[in-house]
Amino acid sequence: MPVYSSQSRARLSTCDARLQRVFNEVIMLHDCTVIEGHRSRERQLELYNAKRSKVKAGKHNEQPSLAVDAAPYLRGIGIPWPDRKKRPATFEKDYWQFVYFAGFVVAIAASMDIPLRWGGDWNRNLLLSDQNFDDLVHFEIVT
Ligand SMILES: [Zn+2]
Repeated sequence: MPVYSSQSRARLSTCDARLQRVFNEVIMLHDCTVIEGHRSRERQLELYNAKRSKVKAGKHNEQPSLAVDAAPYLRGIGIPWPDRKKRPATFEKDYWQFVYFAGFVVAIAASMDIPLRWGGDWNRNLLLSDQNFDDLVHFEIVT
């Protein structure tokens, strides 16, 4: 059974207890890594200014964090970041890997009655084609 690295555990510990409960179930079914939980306001502004985030303040900035960034982790590969230049042959499958993983996360949260939003389906209508900004690693508590 997969387990979190100490770094992932430390990052997850900065998150809301509901996110911790969901991701402690997820790891039992799908290996993954926690990229970021709580994010300082300074780092949020850096990301915003670098156009890597759409918001100046968000759910990562709450204490505890109401958002977590997590990615699938594959044996022998690590995080399968979709990259058209570095890994063109597997680009689409790498992308699907994130969608497949998000399905685990969203379904587990639903089974626990925890309202969760994934960055690949912001309006939570289960339709991916109506998205105009994908943040495939982002999961947040709906407030
Ligand atoms: Zn995020």
